[in-house]
Amino acid sequence: MIYKVTGKTKCDVRNCKNDAAYAFDVKGISGKCFLCAGCLAALSADCRALTVPKSPKNAIKKRLDRAEASDVLC
Ligand SMILES: [Zn+2]
Repeated sequence: MIYKVTGKTKCDVRNCKNDAAYAFDVKGISGKCFLCAGCLAALSADCRALTVPKSPKNAIKKRLDRAEASDVLC
């Protein structure tokens, strides 16, 4: 879905001024969404966080973290 591009197109992410290194096709007039390597990495990290099922270890750690946080808050 995502492919490499070359040239001087800027990354489409808000407040990012890097040159795009990747793109994927979108609806609309421009037809493409351009991403620099940094934004692609950030995007892929977000995708993993949102879509990959949590491992049991992570779920336990998260619960512990939440317990610690609530201790601090209460
Ligand atoms: Zn970018």
